[in-house]
Amino acid sequence: MTRRFFIQRLFEGFKTAVLVHMFWFSMTSDQKVAADVNWKLVNKMPLREITKRKLHHGSDHYLNPFGRRKHGNLWRVMRWKLFGENRFKRFYPSEPVVPVKMDWRFLKEYKGLGITFLKHATLIIKDGDDYIYIDPVLFNIFRFIKDFTPLHFDIRELPNPKHLLITHGHYDHLDKKSLSHFNKKTHIISPVGYNSIFKGLGMTNRDQLDWFDTLTQGNREITLLPCHHWTMRNPIVGPNRSLWGSYLIKSASGPVIYISGDTAYFDRFSEIGNEFKIDLAIFNLGAYEPRWFMADSHINPAETVRAFQELNAKHLMIVHWGTFRLGDEPVHFPSIEIKQEMQKAGLQDRYVEINHGQTLFFDSFNVV
Ligand SMILES: [Zn+2]
Ligand SMILES: [Zn+2]
Repeated sequence: MTRRFFIQRLFEGFKTAVLVHMFWFSMTSDQKVAADVNWKLVNKMPLREITKRKLHHGSDHYLNPFGRRKHGNLWRVMRWKLFGENRFKRFYPSEPVVPVKMDWRFLKEYKGLGITFLKHATLIIKDGDDYIYIDPVLFNIFRFIKDFTPLHFDIRELPNPKHLLITHGHYDHLDKKSLSHFNKKTHIISPVGYNSIFKGLGMTNRDQLDWFDTLTQGNREITLLPCHHWTMRNPIVGPNRSLWGSYLIKSASGPVIYISGDTAYFDRFSEIGNEFKIDLAIFNLGAYEPRWFMADSHINPAETVRAFQELNAKHLMIVHWGTFRLGDEPVHFPSIEIKQEMQKAGLQDRYVEINHGQTLFFDSFNVV
């Protein structure tokens, strides 16, 4: 093994460990971060007020005012990861590999609002003539984690983005290799922070948004909203050095789209729903098991239905599933379980079933 290869392998392992939230460094710094939040103050305070008072801004990091992360003790994490305490294993042989093929012709000619689910949490929103990408991940980004939705087309065929939106810095959302595929002059929209990453990529055409900041371009408005999550890229530097968030896009075509990004359930969705009339809520649903570890990072199917109802959105779509197994549940379970939960709530006709490589055409409300 050459030295370079060894370092590469080490870095890959490190990245994976960050991703599955395995580092105990992070657990100790979580406690430090949580201690900085003034819980009594934020509990009943409206989201806008929390933001106005910058209660999510710490001294040298950002704060998640919506949850005290309890990841169980170190031994439980070790037992889980090292001794494979996992009730889902028997389903793994049935996880489907879905190569993503795209026929761009129809989408390129289409002038309305089209939403393409590419892979993992990657969305391509076509709004009129403009393409907006969310959290672009085009490759297998983890050497030790299988990619169940490899792209089976030449990525040079991807339409040029008008904006690239990043929800947060976790490696399955902010992927430098994928970003470097795009023209350096592409306009980036991200939560505040991430300066060294984008500077390193030479992508300096940027707008950084704090929660409730809105970027207006013609008839389109893009707003960053609070959510219950966190971010980290380097456990030694620690978590939350940059901000995270959901996006609300008032499209130039008309419909309003809510993009949750990674979020745990929190009791503020009705507040967002009261302020914005949402046509389509897109939730990141995946990596939610085991609950004792994931509940403070990722929403589960039953909570997604609850959040969807509280948002008072017209339709629901899910992403962040099918590509990388980051939690215990098999990659295809979110799409099965959300249907069951929507059925239970009598909301099955409000669920938009979409697979990797498919597009929802808004005017006909067809998925092709
Ligand atoms: Zn995340
Ligand atoms: Zn994620």
